[in-house]
Order: sequence, then C-alpha cells, then structure tokens
Amino acid sequence: MNKILIVEDSKFFSSIVKHKIENELGLSVIVVDTMKAAKLTLDVRRDDFFIALLDLTLPDASGTDIVKTVKSYGLPCIVFSSVFSEELHHELNELSVVDYIIKDNPSSFDYLVSLVNRFHNNKNINVVIAEDSKIQRQMAAHFLKRFNLNVIEAENGEEAFKIVEEANKSKTSKIELVITDYEMPKKNGFDLIVSLRKKWNPNELGIIGFSAADDKRLPAKFLKSGADDFVHKPIQPEEFISRISHNLNNLEQINKLHIAATRDYMTGMYNRRFFFKAAISAYEKAYKDKAQLLVSMIDVDFFKKVNDTHGHHVGDEVLIKVAKVLETEAREQDLIARFGGEEFCLFSVGMNAEVVGNYLNHIRQKISELEFDGSGGKFKITASLGATVKKFDCLDDMINEADERLYDAKEGGRNKVVLSR
Ligand code: GH3
Ligand code: MG
Ligand code: MG
Ligand code: MG
Repeated sequence: MNKILIVEDSKFFSSIVKHKIENELGLSVIVVDTMKAAKLTLDVRRDDFFIALLDLTLPDASGTDIVKTVKSYGLPCIVFSSVFSEELHHELNELSVVDYIIKDNPSSFDYLVSLVNRFHNNKNINVVIAEDSKIQRQMAAHFLKRFNLNVIEAENGEEAFKIVEEANKSKTSKIELVITDYEMPKKNGFDLIVSLRKKWNPNELGIIGFSAADDKRLPAKFLKSGADDFVHKPIQPEEFISRISHNLNNLEQINKLHIAATRDYMTGMYNRRFFFKAAISAYEKAYKDKAQLLVSMIDVDFFKKVNDTHGHHVGDEVLIKVAKVLETEAREQDLIARFGGEEFCLFSVGMNAEVVGNYLNHIRQKISELEFDGSGGKFKITASLGATVKKFDCLDDMINEADERLYDAKEGGRNKVVLSR
C-alpha cells in the first residue's frame, strides 16, 4: 500500500520522477510504459499502490483512457501531461483526479514530488470543515477527501469548536486544519477563529477562511482575526488543493523545527534545554502547591567500556534502548530527558514518597534486563540512579543533590539506587 505506480512511456521523464521520489521521499516506485502493462500490474498487485502518476499520451492509449482504466481499480490518480486544454481540464475534474500537472518546466518535477508527499502524509491528517450550507460543505469535503485527508463536517462554528476541542485532547486524533465559512448560525466564522486562536496558535492549528460574500474586505478581515489563508467560493479545486498543501506543508515544517529544537536526535528523547524549560515552571508551581517532588539522575555504568569493547554503534544502540526503557517505564506525567552522553534526568511531581524507592528500583531492574549483541556475543549493562525527594529552594539544587547521590551509587558498587529524603 506504500508504492507509487507511474504509467509513462518517456524513459527520460519516468526515470527522473522515480529517482526523485525514491530519494526525496523514500517511497518505492514501479514504472510501466503502456496501458496494457498498467492493467496487468494492477490485476496482480493493486493493493501495493496508494497512488498512480499518469501520462496521457501512451503508445496504446490517449486522452483520458488511462485515467478511466486506473480509476476503475479504485486507485487515486495524478495526471501529468504536456497537453493542456480547457476541455481536458474539465474532463479530468469530472473524473476526480487529485491534480493535473503540465510538464512545461523543470519545476513541475518538484511540484509533482511535493504533491505525492502531501497526498501520502494527508492520510494521517484531520481537517474540520465548518459550513452551514450542506451543498457547499459536501463539495469542500469531497475535494478534501479526494486529497486523502480525513474530513469532519460541522454545520456551524459552535459545533466546529467542540469537535476541535474534543479531538485535541488526545495526541492521536488531533485536528491540524480548520476551514471555515463566514456566515453561519450559532457562531460565525470570525468568532470561531477568535475562540480557536485563544487555545491554539498558528504553529499548532492551521485555519483557512472561505466565503462567497461580495465584501472585498472579507479576506483581510479573516486574516486579521487569525486565519492563515483565504479562498473564495465557489471553490476552484486546483487553487483549493494548492492552498491546503501550502498550509499543511508549513505546519509540517514548523513541527520538524520544533522537534529538532526540543529533542535529542539519536534517542528522540527531550533534550536538556527543553527539560529545563518545562521542569522549571512545573517546579515552581509544585513548590507553591507543596506537592511532592522527585529528581533522579540516571547514568549507565562503565559505558566507556561498552564503546571500547563493542564499538560506538553498539554504544549508540545501548543508549537508544535505555532511553526506550525510561520512556516506557516512567509514568506518563513524568518528564525525562537525555542530559548528554549516557546520562538521563527524571523529574516527577506528586508521586507518593513511599513508592519512589520501588519506582526507581524497577527502572534500574528493567535496564539490567536489556540484552545487546556485542562483538563477542550477547551482553548486558547496568545503570546507577541518584535521587532526591528533599525540598530545595530551586530545581538546580535538587539536581545537584541527585547528582551527588548518583556519585554515592557509583562509589557503592554501581547498579544501585541511592535516594535522599
Ligand atoms: P561510570 O560507570 O563511572 O559512569 O563510567 P562510564 O564509563 O559510564 O563513564 P564515563 O563518563 O567515563 O564515559 C562515558 C562515555 O560515554 C564516554 C563517551 O565517549 C561516551 N559517549 C557519550 N556520548 C555518547 C554517544 O552519543 N554515543 C556513544 N556510543 N558514546 C557516547
Ligand atoms: Mg507520452
Ligand atoms: Mg556512566
Ligand atoms: Mg556519565
């Protein structure tokens, strides 16, 4: 289901596209050069593909023949062709192709690849369409679904807000984009945008306004209330899809930057910088609330020896697996980060002090059960934990105390938890 079918008789074109898609997107591509070969391929392995890229002029097909054939297998199509006419354009729209690209300049390759990428990623993206006219709403939903997005329809602003609020409680059902009409009962488009923007900034949620109203100032009003973009009704599918792509690509880029800035590249864990940002405010709140606090420093024992004996890549593997244990075994509300090297820090609020010893020992135990493939066969590792539940005036002092107890754990023979109360 992760492959792309290209039907194209020009070797020059198909090899460039195949190369670009495989290199830039890491997706695999199958190329055939006739309609007959396309049919044979789809008869046998239709389920391998999620999209087809179709040239219109083939040795055994012309016009929209190939589109109709591939569509009959229920496979979404992108058409790229050197011919263009209004009539063809209309026909392709009727056939519900995802998009239509004219091969007239080198940048059309880039557009094609980014479109395939967008279509592929869209399957995990949830979009809310807020529109009171049923016909308009269904039309917009149709174009969005054609573009592989998950669409949730809302009849007015109030319903749309509730849908976003409910969905965004969980990380897995998050709404990425809201498309909203202006005039709607209960809550109009502007009020919807204002209430959405109170909770989610443009880095977290994209908003596009759309309206048929004649008011020339409407787009500006939408943008000034917090929308990222505006489209006119009736929807022009090409423009609509391009704007949506553009907005979703921006959100994806911002998300990547956020991950790069807050996470450790190797383990995917939070980095030290993010840890302090998040932990300091949590510490101050907990200090005021007189909540129980715990800080633990976790350090792999004799890690240098792992590198020296088995090589750096095995050392890296150890760190990745230790990080995984920490993320699995720590409570969801606890904050853990890779501080650097083979050292991790855990910060927890509200844990009963009586259970802290068991909690940390359980983590220590799980790390000691990990097994690795080394140069001379399987081997295991251990870690030492220093921790404190004592009250200090600042987070830094708590971390220093945990660090000193870590030193005691090392001195005391390693594979140990030393906790101060
Ligand atoms: P101790 O039990 O006292 O903690 O001894 P140790 O050998 O674990 O501690 P030491 O601080 O002497 O060595 C840590 C080593 O971790 C040295 C460094 O090369 C290695 N290291 C740091 N970051 C990485 C990394 O990202 N990958 C790998 N493979 N090694 C790393
Ligand atoms: Mg051709
Ligand atoms: Mg160490
Ligand atoms: Mg160390």
